[in-house]
Amino acid sequence: MDRHENTNERHCVFCGRGENEVSLLLQGMDASICSDCVKLCHDYVANLEKQMAPEPAKIEDLLKPKEIHAYLDQYVIGQDRAKKLLSVAVYNHYKRVNNNLVQEKESELEIEKSNILMVGPTGTGKTLLAKTIARLLKVPFTIVDATVLTEAGYVGEDVESILTRLLQEADYDVKLAERGIVFIDEIDKIARKSDNPSITRDVSGEGVQQAMLKLLEGNVVNVPPKGGRKHPEQEFIQVNTQNILFICGGAFEGIERRIAQRLNTQVIGYSSSNRPSVDKNNLLKYVSAQDLRSYGLIPEIIGRLPVITYLDSLDRAALLRILTEPKNAIIRQYEKMFELDGMKLRIDPEVLDLIVDTSIENKLGARGLRSICEKIMTDAMYEAPSSRKKTFHLTLAYAKEKLSAEN
Ligand code: ADP
Repeated sequence: MDRHENTNERHCVFCGRGENEVSLLLQGMDASICSDCVKLCHDYVANLEKQMAPEPAKIEDLLKPKEIHAYLDQYVIGQDRAKKLLSVAVYNHYKRVNNNLVQEKESELEIEKSNILMVGPTGTGKTLLAKTIARLLKVPFTIVDATVLTEAGYVGEDVESILTRLLQEADYDVKLAERGIVFIDEIDKIARKSDNPSITRDVSGEGVQQAMLKLLEGNVVNVPPKGGRKHPEQEFIQVNTQNILFICGGAFEGIERRIAQRLNTQVIGYSSSNRPSVDKNNLLKYVSAQDLRSYGLIPEIIGRLPVITYLDSLDRAALLRILTEPKNAIIRQYEKMFELDGMKLRIDPEVLDLIVDTSIENKLGARGLRSICEKIMTDAMYEAPSSRKKTFHLTLAYAKEKLSAEN
């Protein structure tokens, strides 16, 4: 019998507690519900909605490779070849994800995934490209450094921790994480140290590559929700990596030598007239699976990274463009900051040359531009908010003085 039947006390029809036992009782037409049950129901419904499979998008709704390229152009200078390959790879990836969503229902041909490997000197835009793509696609994105990963059982992070971070980026929405992008930086640092498959264990190299294979292949992986191995009692979350796009990047320092060697041996036997001409100043553009293998990536990993592309090193002209052209270019950011103080920032073109030359001299590449700008601008930004001037004119003499000053 209902314990409230004979009393006039109102009660929650979900948990049965009377109005004196709950903090808030909401009154409906013929029944009441307490605030605790409202919260529970809300969470339950939200969870259900999350679990519902995403509907495949129409192919017309997907951004075409040319549109992806145009978007990348707004943020990344140069690197045309890489942009083209990435645009196609990402477009195909989403076509594939969609097809496989349909396929689950109709059991048709399943298209395999195409993870990407970008080879190029540090600071040339590998991370920036991956980040920009993720922003465009509005999918969770995470960057991991391959050097912190170790084989299970060793000090360091398990390979599964990569997915922990992706899950965190997706607010633990597993379905969303399963469509995300992971950028694995410094993949060259886990190359096998010698050419012979090792008999002894190679903690930092081959073992990690083997472990990583599991993720790249597309498997259901048990992921510790909080990462690490410090909480062995934590329950695992199962994440299917089949539709996660992995983009790997690495400088592969010295790989040019291996490329040159291969190209040299390949052309033996050709008569000099039909010998393909080789651009010796940019050997990276010939990088192939064979070179990566001789550098120390295991064939299975290379097989899971079918799209290989390279990045050019940035010359003086490219660095100048990086300073001013991208949508969020460094100089534009300073102009905006001054504008917020009601001031116009005028920079003499020679100052930009000085910034670029200083960065080149110190071998800092694009990465150095910001710190050099900071050094020049800090005093001005300190004074500007209290100044009544309408314009700040940055001259070469001023910039030189600030650059040569002590910190
Ligand atoms: P890496 O190739 O080592 O991943 P990053 O993408 O992290 O290099 O580049 C470091 C920084 O240098 C970026 O945040 C960006 O400000 C700048 N940068 C590098 N390359 C480019 C580029 N091609 N176009 C625009 N900015 C670039």
